[in-house]
Amino acid sequence: MKTSIRSWFTGRMITVLTVGLIAGWLADRVFLGLFLAVLFYLAWSHYQLSRLLNWLNEASHKELDPPESSGIWGDIFDGIYRIQRKHSRSKQRLTNVIERIQESTAALNDGIIMADKNGGLEWWNRAAGEHLGLQMPDDQGQPLTNLVRNPKFAAYMENSRGKEPIKIDSPAHTNRQLQIAITVYGQGNRLLLVRDVTRLHQLEIMRTDFVANVSHELRTPLTVISGYLETMMDSADQNTNIPPVFNRALGQMQEQATRMQRLIEDLLLLSRLEATEPERLNRSVSLKPLLKGIVDDARALSGDNQHQVKLKCEDDAFLSGDTMELRSAFSNLIYNAIRYTPAGGKVTVKWHQNEEGGHLIVEDNGIGIDPLYIPRLTERFYRVDKSRSNVTGGTGLGLAIVKHVLLRHDGRITISSHPGKGSRFTCHFPLARVIQPEVTTE
Ligand code: ADP
Repeated sequence: MKTSIRSWFTGRMITVLTVGLIAGWLADRVFLGLFLAVLFYLAWSHYQLSRLLNWLNEASHKELDPPESSGIWGDIFDGIYRIQRKHSRSKQRLTNVIERIQESTAALNDGIIMADKNGGLEWWNRAAGEHLGLQMPDDQGQPLTNLVRNPKFAAYMENSRGKEPIKIDSPAHTNRQLQIAITVYGQGNRLLLVRDVTRLHQLEIMRTDFVANVSHELRTPLTVISGYLETMMDSADQNTNIPPVFNRALGQMQEQATRMQRLIEDLLLLSRLEATEPERLNRSVSLKPLLKGIVDDARALSGDNQHQVKLKCEDDAFLSGDTMELRSAFSNLIYNAIRYTPAGGKVTVKWHQNEEGGHLIVEDNGIGIDPLYIPRLTERFYRVDKSRSNVTGGTGLGLAIVKHVLLRHDGRITISSHPGKGSRFTCHFPLARVIQPEVTTE
């Protein structure tokens, strides 16, 4: 193409110069002839250029056929026209795709929002606007945290990496619960998925209320039954005429009644953990006395089994949280260690801190757990071996309580175990929850 243009150009120039030269020679004015020929060629080129410019100006507003021309100018007009057509075709294709995406996202019940790296609103679909009360185009470019004023949402927008979706009240509708999940993409841009979870939330509340109410209602009759059983056992002890089979039955009835009471207490505790907001769990909890109390109780629980229970914890170890909840979680782990470790076994309770946070380790050399069962251990009523728990009198809710308490304290639990060798349960707390000891300067 380049060579043909060059040869055409050279050919045209030579023709014009030859014509000028001949005309000049005939008129006996060779230089004037040449000069006029070049001038004519320049003027013609200028005319073609201005036609091109006019066409380009007009074609930017509407689609126009290129001006008619022959030779190289004709090729230039056609070439530009072809490129223009190609661009407008791909633009149309892209517009169609965008329109289709907008139509399909507008039909979604879930809200989608695109925000830039500063949290400024770029685009959202109809459902997102409805759930959060966003107005098009007034709110475009506005920081989302100015429009959705909620501290939980602001903290999630600030840092969403590795975090579970949050639930907040809709700022535009009373009694509407929204679940928001943020995905970070590109250079810190954010994609938000907004879901109406009102119905699920109501069902969850109904379930929690139901369990709490049933547990509460069962408490009184069970206390009465336990009280009578105790009285009957006392009188059975004094009355030698009662057949031994009744004595055994009374003993078993009391055992089961106590177990049911423990179950009810655990269910009520779980309901409380679910029903209350975790935000206010920021009291300073001194770990040494808390753990010492539990370890003393664990030694009492061990009784004649003579477990060796060791506690390693600095006097100045403090955690920001709730004493009652932490006591429940730690005691469940420590009592489990005693219950699932044969007589004379070792149980170690250790608190340590590092740059990642605080960690409470409860280790035993007991019966252990097959790694296969570990992922499901914190589920409610999940037991590795039902007969094991029946012997130890467990409720199957202990580790579920531990998991809940840790979640409410921004922590998590890890479990490692080898059957026949023992288990290690570690509660991890983030650095923000660990209260650093004050450094006194002389
Ligand atoms: P349970 O009341 O039955 O002990 P948990 O939720 O506390 O319920 O524990 C769930 C299961 O995990 C238990 O049934 C038991 O099989 C297993 N488990 C918990 N702690 C230990 C441990 N220290 N050693 C071995 N198994 C354990």
